[in-house]
Amino acid sequence: MKFGGTSVADPEKILRAAERAVRARKEGSDVVVVVSAPGEMTDELIALAQRVSQEPDAREMDVLLATGEQMSIALFAMACRSLGCPAVSLTGPQAGIHADDRHTRSRILEIRPQKIFSELRAGRICVVAGFQAVNPNSDVTTLGRGGSDLSAVALAAVLRASGCEIFTDVKGVYTADPRIVPDARKIASLSYEEMLELAGAGAQVMQARSIDLAHRYGVRIHVRSAFHPVAGTWIEKAEEKRMEDATVSSLALDKGEVRLTLVEVPDKPGIAARVLTELAKKEIAVDMIVQSAPTQAGVNDISLMTPRATSEAARATLEALARRIGAKRVDITEQVAKVTVVGTGFRRHAGIAAKMFGTLADAGINIHMITTSDLKLCCIVDARHAESALRALHKAFKLGRR
Ligand code: ADP
Ligand code: ASP
Ligand code: MG
Repeated sequence: MKFGGTSVADPEKILRAAERAVRARKEGSDVVVVVSAPGEMTDELIALAQRVSQEPDAREMDVLLATGEQMSIALFAMACRSLGCPAVSLTGPQAGIHADDRHTRSRILEIRPQKIFSELRAGRICVVAGFQAVNPNSDVTTLGRGGSDLSAVALAAVLRASGCEIFTDVKGVYTADPRIVPDARKIASLSYEEMLELAGAGAQVMQARSIDLAHRYGVRIHVRSAFHPVAGTWIEKAEEKRMEDATVSSLALDKGEVRLTLVEVPDKPGIAARVLTELAKKEIAVDMIVQSAPTQAGVNDISLMTPRATSEAARATLEALARRIGAKRVDITEQVAKVTVVGTGFRRHAGIAAKMFGTLADAGINIHMITTSDLKLCCIVDARHAESALRALHKAFKLGRR
């Protein structure tokens, strides 16, 4: 059972969440709980670090960030005990979660669950700090934003749990962010592939890496409300019968990326490879790489999207490269957003792309970049149009409540 930040934001909410865990334990299940830091604490800790240092040291950043989840586990375990059920708090390192040493974005290497198993055998609920792990230097490290989802899925896989319940502040996964599209509909079940596309496209409700892991280990996920006892959304294996249809299942919006353009790049073999090699060396993530057709002068433009957090590093890298390869300049566009339509069968049904572009055109929204695949259609638009684009598409694809 994983409880997100809003679900453990104050003592009352912690008690309510603990009641659920205690009930499951009393009904006979062994229970492992994963908790996030309360409320917006992780954001607040990041802001705090920036007040003492412009470039906080990554190792110290992780020591700081890990405190949020540590507060939650202690309070949650106390709450379980006050409800009459034995419970024990475990930090990520105590729970045996081992990760690599890439501070603030570590990958899980292995989980050694012996301590969890012995606590469960003693009848206790284990309350594990999400988002954190221990690296090969015995230092605490964190797993990237939204990483408690990853901790929960990884533990469910290793412990061979019957399922992984993700308790959050919405009733499940919706056809679009219900905070932006009021008539968005709750989806009863989604395939791993669809959820991965949706999460990768910016739907914050589940961390993308956790879905990838759930898919590989066959962990069934139930995303549901921490506050209302109703069924949420199941994320599980695709049903065969749907595979041949073209369906639009949901929409996502991502305002967390910026666009970079290398302008007037000589049109020669190997240039795109050099661009990507330079970015890869710095571990900068890229998405939507688009190269325009060459002009008569033998140059083209290469555009790509990169996360806001690494955009300055990406810009510096490309500017250095531009000088070496003879490109004219690097442009950066900050005020953009990515709108994505997620579903299946888009390759065989061009009408879906036509409808997406037509809907944006009718709303007077200009499209800066487009990429498509069988599972998703993405458009980059001005950030100021992002929400209205999402609502217009939601209506056009008739995704709302009927
Ligand atoms: P938690 O703190 O529980 O991990 P998050 O804030 O990370 O919660 O994720 C839940 C939020 O995700 C919701 O409040 C909602 O605004 C947002 N969200 C974005 N897209 C969707 C979607 N398709 N369905 C449900 N929620 C979504
Ligand atoms: N507290 C961490 C974050 O805000 C991890 C999580 O909530 O999943 O990113
Ligand atoms: Mg989250």
